[in-house]
Amino acid sequence: MARTFVAVTLTLLLAACGGSAPTAPSETVRLTERIVTPHFVFHYSANDSVDTEWQEAYHVWAVSQLGVTPAVIEYNKYRDRAQMGQITGHGSTNGYAEPAAATIHTIWKIDNHEVVHVYAGPWGSPAALFGEGLAVAFQTNPQAGDFVAKWSGTPVHDLARRFRAQGQLLSIPSIAETAAFRARDEGVTYPEAGSFVRFLIDSEGIAPMRRLYGSMGPARRSRRFARRSPASTASRSTRPSSAGWRSSAPDALRASRLAPAPRTPHLAPALVTSQNQLYALSV
Ligand SMILES: [Zn+2]
Repeated sequence: MARTFVAVTLTLLLAACGGSAPTAPSETVRLTERIVTPHFVFHYSANDSVDTEWQEAYHVWAVSQLGVTPAVIEYNKYRDRAQMGQITGHGSTNGYAEPAAATIHTIWKIDNHEVVHVYAGPWGSPAALFGEGLAVAFQTNPQAGDFVAKWSGTPVHDLARRFRAQGQLLSIPSIAETAAFRARDEGVTYPEAGSFVRFLIDSEGIAPMRRLYGSMGPARRSRRFARRSPASTASRSTRPSSAGWRSSAPDALRASRLAPAPRTPHLAPALVTSQNQLYALSV
């Protein structure tokens, strides 16, 4: 589907260039190169490159962690935003995913974010807090043996701790709505969501997160916890699994292993309960 999409876009672009367009389209508006690996089909430009070994190593680790078996992924690599904009019409971002088409578009030669949107696509379409949170929580470097999720090179829990110290850490309910999440500084929302989701996965396991994905639509949110009053949640805030993220979990989780072994098969409400408790702690 990706190739069709690109081809259609190209057709439109060329058509827009008028009848005198050259017979051979400019290579700047086409991904001419192609490499097929076991789990990806890479498309990129001449004089550009992708790191197929890194990407395959990441894929093997990530799908194992997530417990998914995705389709072969179309990896469209662009030289820069300008080229991505020329070809796709989306030039105001460094990358984006089309989960239903198992396709990503990126300006980077390796990717540990957009592919996560594809991996989790079959789970559902949650609020951005969880969708972006999961993707950031998986921003690791397995090939280098580095399994600490980072945002712009800094561990997400370190960033959350820094935000808290600076009074910038946002309350989870305040970014539970996707529109509210998108309205805030992504330099805060993305790493904070990544820290939050990484905490939830490390403390509850991946299965509850998968169920949470399936229980939410993009327009829905965890209204259950957002509507609750602090008083209604405070009584639950004594459970050790919850008292954590905002106050101390980032420290406790710094050395957490990325091989979550769910202690108990919690259902999605367990995560919502955790959020309730965060809410209670944040007010
Ligand atoms: Zn994303």
